[in-house]
Amino acid sequence: MSRNERAIIIGGGVSGKLAARVVSDFFKEVIIIERDQEPQGPFPRKGAPQGQHLHALLHAGENGLEILFPGITKKFHSSGAVKINSTQDLAWFHHGVWKVRFDGGYTTTLQTRPHLEWHIEQYMKCIPNVTFLYNHDVQNYIYNEEKNQIIGIDVFDGSDTVKSLFADLVVDASGVSSLSSSWLNKRGISIPEQKVNIGLSYLSKSFQLPESPKRDWAIKLVYPNPPQEKIGGTISKVEGNRYIVTLIGYHNEVNAKEVLKNDSSFIELSKKLPKLDIYHEIKDVAPLSNTSIYRVPHIVWRQFYKVRSLPDGLLLIGDTVCRIDPVFGQGMSIAVLEALTLQKLLQNRSHNLQKTFHKKVAKIISPIWNMVIIEDFRYPETTGKKPAGLSFQQWYAKNIFLLSSQNQYIYNSFVKVMNLVRPITILMHPRIIKQVLKKTYTTLLKGPDSK
Ligand SMILES: Cc1cc2nc3c(=O)[nH]c(=O)nc-3n(C[C@H](O)[C@H](O)[C@H](O)COP(=O)(O)OP(=O)(O)OC[C@H]3O[C@@H](n4cnc5c(N)ncnc54)[C@H](O)[C@@H]3O)c2cc1C
Repeated sequence: MSRNERAIIIGGGVSGKLAARVVSDFFKEVIIIERDQEPQGPFPRKGAPQGQHLHALLHAGENGLEILFPGITKKFHSSGAVKINSTQDLAWFHHGVWKVRFDGGYTTTLQTRPHLEWHIEQYMKCIPNVTFLYNHDVQNYIYNEEKNQIIGIDVFDGSDTVKSLFADLVVDASGVSSLSSSWLNKRGISIPEQKVNIGLSYLSKSFQLPESPKRDWAIKLVYPNPPQEKIGGTISKVEGNRYIVTLIGYHNEVNAKEVLKNDSSFIELSKKLPKLDIYHEIKDVAPLSNTSIYRVPHIVWRQFYKVRSLPDGLLLIGDTVCRIDPVFGQGMSIAVLEALTLQKLLQNRSHNLQKTFHKKVAKIISPIWNMVIIEDFRYPETTGKKPAGLSFQQWYAKNIFLLSSQNQYIYNSFVKVMNLVRPITILMHPRIIKQVLKKTYTTLLKGPDSK
């Protein structure tokens, strides 16, 4: 094979498929190497165990997917995914108050992660220069020391032989336990990282709920109010007329062993939420599935853009770079934004692709990371590097959350920021600052109970 022809993508998860979609326009051949078996339908799989839990796709993710896979949103809907009005059909209890509900003009799609991934995979299979190698596990990089360049990978297909595949570009999309980190560390290349310990557990189950005229929502979020409350949950309609219930607990508040014992202990856990809404929905209903568990002891941002001697020919994307607190539902949308960035750089024939890409990825992650850890650090048990001006940022954000229960303009602005379609600076609009100051003043005059 003459080089300058082939790109290899390690990992066929969401980021891997997105990266492959983008590079397929610029390389003759793209090979996605995935250690899982070929999926036979929209079912959970071993390599993406988080897929058993609720996965929300934010507006930025949905818009970006539509650019990369035109028509995919319609496909989601025609196969059962639930189209909702983002501010009308979402009931959200946050920091002790329900968000105001109204038609803000935005829609969102509710579906399971396997359903979303399955549709992307079907699209990918129609791209003639993309091949999936399932049941293949990448074990090592082939490295040209002289050029400090990754020139391929060693892959294990389950038999005794290890195959070597050469490529001009290798994209590591193998997720949080990525090969690159350990490979680089072994070579004495340390990757600066930020790590924040959150001790988060996810427990999920699906249900078929009886119809109820009282149910005026499609998704309900009951977030814990930190620092006192650590347990929260979500109930969401998904394809197949099912509901996924995901319960979460920060700082090991949930005794997972106990909850996994039987169905009733899951229902018992739902009683510990700040509101009993989810408990009332599921208490008399037989679940459709066993309880799944996923633990996120810490979140991590590996700052590859700071590594000076990163070998050429290697790009890192998705959870390989950053695992963010999943409670805010941003991971897949970050991957979409990264893929679109890569597309732009390839279209512009960017000179220093690797360096520029990793710098731009950092620019995507940085404000999101900041926004998320401001919330995580509301718990005194959270450890890690705190952001500058934490107390001020927490005070300001809390006011935005509380005002979002009364003020449509503020809630709509917050929704845009949460959905990664507008920068956080829109929340510093004079109209919003004025409301925040007014609220603070009223609270000071009347006492903390005035909302
Ligand atoms: C509990 C939980 C809930 C979440 N909820 C949301 C949400 O609501 N919304 C949202 O947007 N995001 C959510 N996320 C984040 C989201 O799941 C991730 O951001 C997303 O999966 C990242 O995709 P990825 O492709 O980078 O990594 P992964 O999904 O981890 O995929 C990596 C792939 O690489 C394969 N692989 C790994 N190593 C190798 C190897 N050596 N050789 C070959 N293949 C390999 C794996 O089998 C896997 O298929 C959640 C995460 C968790 C943990």
